[in-house]
Amino acid sequence: MRNSKINILNIDFENITKNELLLRLRDYISERKKTFVVTANPEIVMYANQDNKYQSIINSADFVIADGIGVVIGSKVLGSPLPERIAGFDLMVELLKLGNENGWSAYFLGSKKDVIEKAVQNIHHSFPSLQIAGWHDGYFNWEASTIPEEIREKKPDLIFVALGLPRQEKWIYENIGGFENGLFMGVGGSFDVLSGTVKRAPIVWQKLNLEWLYRLLKQPSRWKRMLALPLFMVKIFREKLRTKK
Ligand code: UDP
Repeated sequence: MRNSKINILNIDFENITKNELLLRLRDYISERKKTFVVTANPEIVMYANQDNKYQSIINSADFVIADGIGVVIGSKVLGSPLPERIAGFDLMVELLKLGNENGWSAYFLGSKKDVIEKAVQNIHHSFPSLQIAGWHDGYFNWEASTIPEEIREKKPDLIFVALGLPRQEKWIYENIGGFENGLFMGVGGSFDVLSGTVKRAPIVWQKLNLEWLYRLLKQPSRWKRMLALPLFMVKIFREKLRTKK
């Protein structure tokens, strides 16, 4: 039997394929189990390695998924290969599809007001049987916010949170305790894509695992943040040398 978790640079990744994960999540939602899903790319792993609190937040999730080819390659280098990359965006879309088939409800928190409104419109158009429990932009006063109560009252099955790294996982961690059920997932820039504001890499680039390069070419201002990927690989090789001794 394979191990259910694989530790890569102090993060416990779920050793699972996308299809297996979807089956598990579908069951969890039907059973009204509370679930925290993190889709972790090298940037998240690097951030978590510099911030202990964030690291424990990530490891408190029920499922940490390898979102990024870097994580999958890293797992192979360290000798415990993860089966595949599961892109956060794809996982969100699959959950919306399942929600549409099963009549689940979903709440959307984050991004700029016009972006989230357009994203919700598009989601409603593509998934008409999914119930929209509500939405709110991601620029609110954290301390004085009544958003958690408002979401709680609606009892959504899915709660997607796009507040950027590390805020979205922190928000989920701080608030999930007050909920009885729901699948919580940080979705980064997904509302920007769903609203049509930002384009995802064409499928060929995705298949070649070059989505990161496409993003870099389209948004060169992200180059500093994208240094996380080579730095992550350096850390992986260091870890390999260390554990060989
Ligand atoms: N965002 C937000 N509130 C914030 C910071 C970011 O709603 O205080 C949104 C932002 O508008 C975008 C999403 O979070 O839609 C992802 O932001 P970014 O690309 O900076 O983060 P990443 O997930 O790539 O780290």
